[in-house]
Amino acid sequence: MRILVTGGAGFIGSHLIDRLMAQGHEVICLDNFYTGHKRNILKWMDHPYFELIRHDITEPIRLEVDQVYHLACPASPVHYQFNPVKTVKTNVMGTLNMLGLAKRVKARFLLASTSEVYGDPEIHPQTEEYRGNVNPIGIRSCYDEGKRIAETLAFDYHRQNDVDIRVARIFNTYGPRMLENDGRVVSNLVVQALKNMPMTVYGDGSQTRSFCYVSDLVEGLMRLMNGEQIGPVNLGNPDEYTILELAEAVRHLVNPQAEIKFAPLPQDDPRRRRPDITRAKTWLGWEPTLPLSEGLKLTVEDFRQRLQQPQPTTYS
Ligand code: NAD
Ligand code: UDP
Ligand code: UDP
Repeated sequence: MRILVTGGAGFIGSHLIDRLMAQGHEVICLDNFYTGHKRNILKWMDHPYFELIRHDITEPIRLEVDQVYHLACPASPVHYQFNPVKTVKTNVMGTLNMLGLAKRVKARFLLASTSEVYGDPEIHPQTEEYRGNVNPIGIRSCYDEGKRIAETLAFDYHRQNDVDIRVARIFNTYGPRMLENDGRVVSNLVVQALKNMPMTVYGDGSQTRSFCYVSDLVEGLMRLMNGEQIGPVNLGNPDEYTILELAEAVRHLVNPQAEIKFAPLPQDDPRRRRPDITRAKTWLGWEPTLPLSEGLKLTVEDFRQRLQQPQPTTYS
């Protein structure tokens, strides 16, 4: 098949491309390199089945493909809040363009949505029926509401234009290739511990998240794309940790001397988050296989190697 991956030079997208290429598909990677990097896809650059297009999805583009994995959108609060209007444009105009493309060429379309559509959830764990508790005017809204309208667009293109959609609600995912300056909690804590800098815990660290290793997540995305259910489907690891527990785990693994420094909790930071993955289990036969302790080791190893290397300057 010929498969388009938007945001393919990013963290999850590049791992997905590795799997698709290994299966022998033709892959087109579309990315504007806002948070993505060529080094993530460097190994495929000379492959005859791989094509990289530098393009911003807020502009239309015509391509002929069989499937679209639509991942383009900055995912870290630091990056999506840097230019919130652009984040809205990417989610609204970008998703509209990619759905328009899928409609024209009759491609199956998978949206990478997020657990953020549940906002600061009042029910726990979160099922797909829960409609969420999102602040429409806060600093996270450009992303949360952006993804909610992206889901609305996907379902409306499905009902109105028969576009064959899949909607994944991805929960916190981590692993190799996260940016050093990504700003999300796993990469921050690992980088800080490796550099012997204070590890920043926001608030008192009692808020929870459930962390899924990237290879497990990618397997879930591919099963959803190639299965019969349109979703939405929660994809994430139901093992829930407080942020302080995560910091302790990273400290234990990387640098028992590292100091933990408490910093203010950002506005609208969700208190608890954990996926109910009953749908993913029954519809896709999917559940995560890698526990946090194992995934953290692989992530730490990747950061350790990258931090030892001089920063690349020849490509973005
Ligand atoms: P990432 O920031 O590493 O990847 C996003 C990619 O999209 C980058 O390569 C970036 O350059 C590209 N991009 C951004 N705006 C673009 C635009 N306007 N045009 C073209 N390309 C653009 O993030 P990630 O963690 O790999 O997340 C991928 C997708 O999964 C995102 O849609 C994100 O919302 C979703 N998601 C991720 C997580 C997570 O924990 N990683 C959780 C929930 C949802
Ligand atoms: N679009 C695109 N590539 C395509 C087909 C459409 O980028 O191959 C864009 C198109 O420019 C439009 C959007 O997707 O902005 C929605 O397309 P649709 O055909 O649904 O709506 P219309 O063009 O009729 O407004
Ligand atoms: N967090 C933290 N220290 C950091 C970065 C984040 O304590 O250096 C907290 C953050 O306040 C949130 C949790 O870790 O409660 C997860 O944050 P992240 O940005 O990774 O993802 P999201 O909030 O989008 O789930």
